Amino acid sequence: MANKIDGKKISQEIKDELKAEVEQLRENGVVPCLAVIQVGADPASTVYVGNKKKACEYIGIRSLAYEIPEETTESELLALIDELNNNDEVNGILVQLPLPSHIDENKVIQAISPLKDVDGFSEKSVGAMTIGTNGYLPCTPAGIIQLLKRSGIEISGKNCVVVGRSNIVGKPAALLMLRENATVTICHSRTKDLKKICSEADILIVAIGKPEFITADHVKEGAVVIDVGIHRREGKKLCGDVKYDEVEPKAGYITPVPGGVGPMTIAMLMENCIKAVRK
Ligand code: NDP
Repeated sequence: MANKIDGKKISQEIKDELKAEVEQLRENGVVPCLAVIQVGADPASTVYVGNKKKACEYIGIRSLAYEIPEETTESELLALIDELNNNDEVNGILVQLPLPSHIDENKVIQAISPLKDVDGFSEKSVGAMTIGTNGYLPCTPAGIIQLLKRSGIEISGKNCVVVGRSNIVGKPAALLMLRENATVTICHSRTKDLKKICSEADILIVAIGKPEFITADHVKEGAVVIDVGIHRREGKKLCGDVKYDEVEPKAGYITPVPGGVGPMTIAMLMENCIKAVRK
């Protein structure tokens, strides 16, 4: 039976550490402030934005909510970002993705000042992460590193396979594992013999976006399995990209869904907000 990596507990630890930091900042008259922009009313985005607001409240970060209509034009959104970039009271800006199809997501991401880019998606943040200088790390991959470290799992020298190469999860997760001295392989939809490559991993990070795709055949006995996927299915329980019931008995450590990577993403966003104050 695998050790369950408890993302809920670890994220709570981090949030409590950050709360103490914010108390100190507030004693010195500094109140961190995060602006959260949601365009339209996608139900999943509403849940994510709500959770971010709740975390801000818990930690003592002031949050400014901009819930703007689906019909908002790209130039209106860019104007709002410009206004927030120039507002000294705002430390961090987050635009909830996905955006409606008439808005160019990349243009919006790049419009956020690199000093306020708490999602870590801008070219400057990605560049800093790639060369290893100080910058905002993307929240989900940074959360994965914290899950591993705070569970006492050695990364250095380990064989790590990342399945998925998106800009928000797969690629940055691979880069951060490399920074921690793992030997990293990245797999994607064109990878040949995925099962063989995965089954050689000491640490397997899965971010494919396909429910229960990874089965016991993909996993080495005793491996650490990090499941980033999250799927809401009609009439069924929430699940990840990994077939948990089948993989869990074989793995050494595993993250559940829910309660694994998900809560860490928000904890790391909060950490970036406090980092933004120091910048
Ligand atoms: P994307 O759809 O952007 O990327 C999926 C990646 O998986 C692509 O690189 C794709 O390859 C690869 N892939 C797809 N099918 C296969 C296959 N059969 N074999 C190997 N690789 C494959 O997804 P995201 O990275 O944005 O998200 C992944 C999952 O993580 C989703 O379920 C998402 O909901 C979840 N997620 C969870 C978060 C959290 O906080 N817990 C945060 C962000 C995402 P190719 O590039 O070749 O197309």
